Amino acid sequence: MDRKVAKRSDSGTKQGKSRTRRGAKTSSRSRNRPVDKRKKHARTVSADGSTLAKQIADAVHRDTTEAKLRAELSELKSRYKTALGRLDHANTELHKIHEIGEVGIRTLPRVKRKGKRPQATVVLVCSDWHSEEIIRPEDCRGLNEFDLDIADRRINTLASKAAMLIEHEKHLTDVRRVVVASLGDLITGHIHDDCIERTQLAPLAATRWAGERLNGVIDTMTEVAPVLTVTSSGNHGRTTRKPRISTENEHSYEQNLYLTMASAERRKNVSWQVGVGYHNMVDLDGFLVRFHHGHALSGGGGVGGLTAPTNRAIAKWNIAKPVDLDVFGHFHQFIHVPYRFVCNGCLCGHNAYADRIKAEFQPPSQALIVIDHDHQRVTKVLPVFV
Ligand SMILES: [Zn+2]
Repeated sequence: MDRKVAKRSDSGTKQGKSRTRRGAKTSSRSRNRPVDKRKKHARTVSADGSTLAKQIADAVHRDTTEAKLRAELSELKSRYKTALGRLDHANTELHKIHEIGEVGIRTLPRVKRKGKRPQATVVLVCSDWHSEEIIRPEDCRGLNEFDLDIADRRINTLASKAAMLIEHEKHLTDVRRVVVASLGDLITGHIHDDCIERTQLAPLAATRWAGERLNGVIDTMTEVAPVLTVTSSGNHGRTTRKPRISTENEHSYEQNLYLTMASAERRKNVSWQVGVGYHNMVDLDGFLVRFHHGHALSGGGGVGGLTAPTNRAIAKWNIAKPVDLDVFGHFHQFIHVPYRFVCNGCLCGHNAYADRIKAEFQPPSQALIVIDHDHQRVTKVLPVFV
């Protein structure tokens, strides 16, 4: 035990000596170093610390600045890309505009007519004149006025305008005939009590009055082309209070007028095809027309009015005998449904009855139809306003 203590003591003594030697050594170097050099060293350490802090601050600043610059660069790149896209789109649009602007004029060779003009038939539809009817403005919201004098003027207007329109048509087609289609209700007659009270002439006198004017229209038409007069009797021209079906024409003032006029016809360029039943089928150089007054049709009341029921009736009539066109009046409405039918307007115009059944107001007119025989098509349907 004593030896260990001694060793430790000895060892401790040695270490102590060693420390003492180092300390002595250091102390010796310090002692040998100049004072200013030691101060300088102290300053250097202190300077190094602030330099490092400054370096770190600089580095942080650099990093922050670099991050900002990178973000700005990224945003600029994005904007640049968007701008390039817009520029590309603008260029495309500009190109399109230039392309549109570059559409030139392709000169089309004008085909001049070779040979003769196409042959045509013009149909002047005369119906629903109601010649002797009195229409007072106060009966129909002031929309119309009608009496024998006005009827006379309107018939004159009709003949003159129709002649002008047909002469005009002759620039395009060879009008080989005019069909004067007298389709009934040229008179109002005495079929209802108010008809008796609102007519200026009795039915026979009214029939003669209308017959003279119908002859006048035919005469005017002969000045422009040969005339074929096609007839149908209307429902107002009947001699009976109630309508007949199979014997209708045998009880018609108008049918009697037509037969009388046809038999008395002396004009070389006027021929007649008086209807014998309800329909009067007329073959115009292969273009088949079904003329009738129109009172066999239902006026309809819903959307489309007359059109749908008339198309159904035409489809049924066509099963047995197809035609190219139906022409009728009765509804006092000018309507053209291509490839199907022409419904004629009226000469008398709007009246109390039209208001009562809520019929659409139309100015008085009669229809003019042009049929081109080169194509066997209807090329024009015009209302002739009177
Ligand atoms: Zn009628």
